[in-house]
Amino acid sequence: MFLLDSHCDTPSHILRLRDMAVDGKYAHVDFPKLRRGGVDGAFFALYTPASLSASESYIHASKLLQGVRSVLKFHKDKARLATTRSEAYKNKADGLFSIFLGLENGAALGSSLERIEEFHEAGIRYITLCHSRNNQICDSCAEGGGWNGLSKFGKDVVRVMNRLGMLVDVSHISDASFYDVLETSSKPVVATHSCCRALCDHPRNMTDAMIKDLAAAGGVIQINFYPLFLDGNFKHVLEQSGIMEYGERIESEFIADPASSTKRAAWNKVQDELIALTRPSFKLIADHIDHVVSLVGIDHVGIGSDYDGIEVTPQGMEDISRMPVLFEELRSRGYTDSDLSKIASDNFFRIL
Ligand SMILES: [Zn+2]
Repeated sequence: MFLLDSHCDTPSHILRLRDMAVDGKYAHVDFPKLRRGGVDGAFFALYTPASLSASESYIHASKLLQGVRSVLKFHKDKARLATTRSEAYKNKADGLFSIFLGLENGAALGSSLERIEEFHEAGIRYITLCHSRNNQICDSCAEGGGWNGLSKFGKDVVRVMNRLGMLVDVSHISDASFYDVLETSSKPVVATHSCCRALCDHPRNMTDAMIKDLAAAGGVIQINFYPLFLDGNFKHVLEQSGIMEYGERIESEFIADPASSTKRAAWNKVQDELIALTRPSFKLIADHIDHVVSLVGIDHVGIGSDYDGIEVTPQGMEDISRMPVLFEELRSRGYTDSDLSKIASDNFFRIL
């Protein structure tokens, strides 16, 4: 079994001076935790905030890529880039962790289809079409009502990605955009980090109909670990705590000045407060997996934790080293070795 996580926001933390060799108290992902968790590979998302202009987004994506490259350069004994299933298995045989690359937010393409090829050359194997705002490609699930789906340029983006063999990531896009992608794409598509709307009514999650249509087109949904996507009640817990009223500002101040130990300590204190909340159990992750399986069978679901991109984690799944606990839970629910292997990576690798 090859354990793959299809979405970690670790590159953002590399720019915030994370030492990947150190088992950090506030890190969701670092080399010691990946080893303890038996994780063989992960997609590191080059995430650019929706607030950036297209040119700023491109510059930021390039900085993130540079950050990942420096990690690969300085930790040759621990990790290697992977772009295919066979490279990932070779890395595992060599005792190395596989870092795959995804681009989270197609805004970085600007209006250039050629940049897709440039990102492909750099090793990027999926593009999340947008983030929390509409962009030149499509509408976001957090906004909507712009293009009412994919723009003309967005349709061309999907076609070029199909031609290059790059996966279209439908996480974050609006329902209308999702259906335009399904209609336009000649290849299966993936939701790299999304949950089920039937279990938690959030626009970031997929409806049963969407999951069925995704699967009918050969695609895969990779379940996100974010408490707000797992459990509808957690929204109220978080709101009542009032933490994010000041937490967001403190996090932004830390992001803008990661070398400041005062700002880092302030953000760490907020994280301590968040982790002290009554958080949903990690067992809900297994519930979301069960739900997908009940709808479309075992061949269309996997893991896309969103670690390092979420400010709070579920109870029992505090960081990536905890992954075996989830697989034990799934085993206790009757999943076979073959099922677990499909969830761990076979389903995702089928379409990569
Ligand atoms: Zn995301």
